[in-house]
Amino acid sequence: MRCPNCDHQEDRVIDSRSTKEGRAIRRRRECIGCGQRFTTYEYVENASVVVVKRDGRREAYSREKVVGGISRACEKRPVSLVHIEGIVDKIETEMQRRAPGEVTSMFVGEKVMEALQDLDQIAYVRFASVYRHFKDVNQFLDEIQTLVSTDGVLKRHAEPKL
Ligand SMILES: [Zn+2]
Repeated sequence: MRCPNCDHQEDRVIDSRSTKEGRAIRRRRECIGCGQRFTTYEYVENASVVVVKRDGRREAYSREKVVGGISRACEKRPVSLVHIEGIVDKIETEMQRRAPGEVTSMFVGEKVMEALQDLDQIAYVRFASVYRHFKDVNQFLDEIQTLVSTDGVLKRHAEPKL
């Protein structure tokens, strides 16, 4: 595993433990080059799952890709990596239940949006704007308007003061 500090390729594992009810192995590693310690996670490969995209193309499911997309939406938001990994765990469990071996990109996208809507609305709007490829500014504003109305914020400010 390449050291994130000095790019050295050799390290030694100093601790290894099971997390998430045995679904992941967390390893603490120490770089042999510079002594920097870092953590890696190991999962069972879900490569057998095929993602069917909106245009009909198919590609191998990538957990990293889903985690990466959510992480970008959550940048500078109070959402931890543990939360994000938890969201993806849930989606993967649901994927397996519905149709083992195949999932649509739309299903994954909608599930991520559902989870983010509960978790952090800024992250939700960011993710939705990328995922839904908003056609224009108005569509984007509609989405924000819906969020504001759901919160009751819009209503409260719209009430006439008599
Ligand atoms: Zn190093």
